[in-house]
Amino acid sequence: MIEYKELKQIGFIDPAVFRRLPLNGEVQDGKIQIGDMSFEFTGDRYKDGTAVEVAVARQFYCVSLEDKQREETERQQAAEARRAAEAIAQKQREEANQIFNNGLNVPARWQPDIKLNLSTMNDRGLANGGKRNSVHHIFLLEDLNTGKLNRTTGDSLCTQGVENAHWKYVLYKNVTDEERAKQLRWGAVNCRACLKIAERFK
Ligand SMILES: [Zn+2]
Repeated sequence: MIEYKELKQIGFIDPAVFRRLPLNGEVQDGKIQIGDMSFEFTGDRYKDGTAVEVAVARQFYCVSLEDKQREETERQQAAEARRAAEAIAQKQREEANQIFNNGLNVPARWQPDIKLNLSTMNDRGLANGGKRNSVHHIFLLEDLNTGKLNRTTGDSLCTQGVENAHWKYVLYKNVTDEERAKQLRWGAVNCRACLKIAERFK
């Protein structure tokens, strides 16, 4: 836990001090002298020789540079641990997606994909297209004709003629098998209409 110690300025208070701080100094004789500014502790103090940063919020205060550095290191370590945990969670989600998608019995090459409404799409639309609450459809990479059901490349199982001026899929449809294997991890199909049609092929 980082410890802040209150200070007060001694002598003339130049209003510019608010712009000049924070500055580094050192405790000497119980005081901190930085250029023409002097500060003393109002209560608990650091011992002489402690390197500190003097700053001002509602009042002047200082913190030992050692404490500050330690806190920064701890913060970085915690952030690193969070990133590692998120990477593991993401990998687990992707594996679960892949298992689910591989269990679907669609008699044509397909990939999971989401529909983007071009009229509401912004710059972030594509970047976060894979967000978890998106509806993932079964998007056909080749024609599928089973008598009752006729779909062409670019359709989803649930909708014919999806790709038009207003709608677009996120993933590229001319994919290699290797790319397609990756895309099966992208998102588990959760479009109810697509899943209902896929049920027929079991
Ligand atoms: Zn669908």
